[in-house]
Amino acid sequence: MSFPTADIQMVDLRNQYLQIKPAIDAAILGCIDTTTFIKGPQVSCFEQQLAAYLDVQHVIACANGTDALQIAMMALGLRPGDEVIVPAFTYVATAEVVALLGLTPVLVDVDPDTFTISTAAIEAALSPKTKLVVPVHLFGQCADMEGILARCAAHHVSVVEDSAQAIGARYTFSNGDTVAAGAIGDLGTTSFFPSKNLGCFGDGGAVYTNSAHLASNVRMIGNHGQARKYEHETVGVNSRLDSIQAAILSEKLKHLTQYTQARQQVADAYDQAFRTIESIDIPFRAAYSTHVFHQYTIKVPASRRADLMVYLKQKKIPSMIYYPIPLNAQKAYQGVGRVMGDLPATRDLCKRVLSLPMHTELTLDQVSYITETVAAFFA
Ligand SMILES: *Cc1c(COP(=O)(O)O)cnc(C)c1O
Repeated sequence: MSFPTADIQMVDLRNQYLQIKPAIDAAILGCIDTTTFIKGPQVSCFEQQLAAYLDVQHVIACANGTDALQIAMMALGLRPGDEVIVPAFTYVATAEVVALLGLTPVLVDVDPDTFTISTAAIEAALSPKTKLVVPVHLFGQCADMEGILARCAAHHVSVVEDSAQAIGARYTFSNGDTVAAGAIGDLGTTSFFPSKNLGCFGDGGAVYTNSAHLASNVRMIGNHGQARKYEHETVGVNSRLDSIQAAILSEKLKHLTQYTQARQQVADAYDQAFRTIESIDIPFRAAYSTHVFHQYTIKVPASRRADLMVYLKQKKIPSMIYYPIPLNAQKAYQGVGRVMGDLPATRDLCKRVLSLPMHTELTLDQVSYITETVAAFFA
């Protein structure tokens, strides 16, 4: 078992590229040949393909997933002082744009099993100033959208889903309807950062919505607030997806279903091996969502995590902590907004989570080597 260790990576973008190199190279060269670098037909083509894939009315591409969140919040016409409920256990971008827009982030706890925003915590955080809730479909599984939508509807609060880690995941409502992550709330956002489940070769992002009105707001805001050239109706931003990135994404979208299946296969193999190890909690699979495993994240005893990481590193297996510090404990967020209580689940997760290699090119030999190594550590 020495070979599979050769180059185990958290994410393997190079081998994924090599599988479809001729098509990707041709797509890039096609853009260069026509020099349609900005606002080329490749962008609207990709937007339509992704809308069809997700079964959502409107997809508006933009420069990155952080911009997508910002533009979505701007499109809702939120005003300084409005409160936005976000989970404390997430990537910083979710709260960052709230603070940048002069809105008030209200940090709430997550569910200890699913790692996604706690519906009960949202309920407790709602105030007359609450205008928006931002569930994050963390690590590739949808938050409890039905519960969240019910609370938000009752209080006339909007919902923007941060789907940066969950493209292709589907949520099943209790009536049996299934809807793509990001197409459930008023707006959804995603990121095409290279290591995301659908990644481009640089930065990229998109906003989704089923509302024609919100879609036109998003388009206008992302293009300097102009509905027609040189007529600026609102203060906007400049946030575009390059044509070359769109052309790459169109090629990769053809493989997204297969990429998702490859991730799920790795996750199943990890689950199978770890299920019987008492010190490991495998990822919880909610009945209401598929899981697209942007990350495969286990919980281990806090006292063993650092040693496990060192042990794995000695065996040439990378691992990462997503995320080591709760947002409320970050220096930048001291005194910014409100924090709902002491967030016990978030604190516990920050001490216990560990993400293992997860990508579309992992071989089952590599996965066996990883699981055997982890098992040996806990034996
Ligand atoms: C990656 C990510 C973002 C930001 O995306 P960028 O394209 O890097 O700006 C936002 N939210 C979550 C949960 C993410 O994982």
